[in-house]
Amino acid sequence: MIAGNRTINYLRISVTDRCNFRCRYCIPSSPFSVMAHDKIAKYEDILRITNLACELGITKVRITGGEPFVRNGIFSFLEKLCAIESLKDISITTNGALLTSKKIKKLIALGIKRLNFSLDTLDPARFAQITGRDKFQQVWDAIFAAHELGISPVKINAVILRHLNYDEIEDIAALTLKYPFHIRFIEYMPMGDSAVESQQQVLTEEIKEKIESRFDKLIPVKRTANDGPAKKFQIAGAKGIVGFITPISSHFCSECNRLRLTSRGTLRPCLLNNYEKDILNPLRNGASDNELKEIILSALTKKPSFHGLTDKSVKDIPISHMTSIGG
Ligand code: SAM
Ligand code: SF4
Repeated sequence: MIAGNRTINYLRISVTDRCNFRCRYCIPSSPFSVMAHDKIAKYEDILRITNLACELGITKVRITGGEPFVRNGIFSFLEKLCAIESLKDISITTNGALLTSKKIKKLIALGIKRLNFSLDTLDPARFAQITGRDKFQQVWDAIFAAHELGISPVKINAVILRHLNYDEIEDIAALTLKYPFHIRFIEYMPMGDSAVESQQQVLTEEIKEKIESRFDKLIPVKRTANDGPAKKFQIAGAKGIVGFITPISSHFCSECNRLRLTSRGTLRPCLLNNYEKDILNPLRNGASDNELKEIILSALTKKPSFHGLTDKSVKDIPISHMTSIGG
């Protein structure tokens, strides 16, 4: 599928807007409700849409949430997803809290070779403060279980905010000295009413400088096929990689190859733009495969060439929060 001069081959599927965590930068600050179950796309709906998207050129899928592993039946859904032949690459983003060794083995047996975890601190008490849950050990154990079971690379996403974990940047990066992990510092994006004040946002240059103040200059690393938008570096002598995802300081829209399917069954061509196209209701109202493919293609015609978060004149701060879109 083509959008402008970009080839779209990557579908990110949010299977639920529910989450067992309450990360302060992700969950809205005011009371919020989750979608009624009947408004959430059923697995069979997601599979039909994914199959059609694959016929149109999607070859990569990432499963996300909310937290994907809170949804019942996720493993049998993943099994069916993995059976789609044209899908070359299936990965999952998770907070890891529900992932035991046994479940990770199951994922590997299904053919899932790539897992991204989220971890913003190495301090259990602070972890509870950031996520609202006392689950540091479970997440830590899941990350190491994945590593020991051969998931490679284990990727770890960290969002840095000045008032939450600024003083841990170097320690988080230092994990790569000991382990072959890919630590990815993601710039905080203001979403919905979870938006924290702008002075809390820490951009890549500052994170990089802080890492280089403890270690030598970061060494740029050549990109590979599965890097996505991360700019990769290495601390001299490290086993792992330090990556930066820079939606704010250096947007990568011109290279964006993604389409998103939200848990409420809408197609979202850009994470940071509010345009969404409903595909679930047409599907439930009997649309044919060709009609659904037309919907997918027409959503892509609305894929913007850049997002509005960095352009003060656009003021396009997404009103959906991250749990419903999936990050
Ligand atoms: N629950 C899973 C997790 O935490 O990995 C998957 C969904 S979560 C929305 C996906 C990623 O988005 C996480 O790595 C999280 O840190 C990141 N994220 C959430 N809110 C964000 C924000 N406002 N700006 C930047 N990244 C954010
Ligand atoms: Fe945290 Fe992910 Fe849940 Fe958001 S969806 S609250 S980032 S665990």
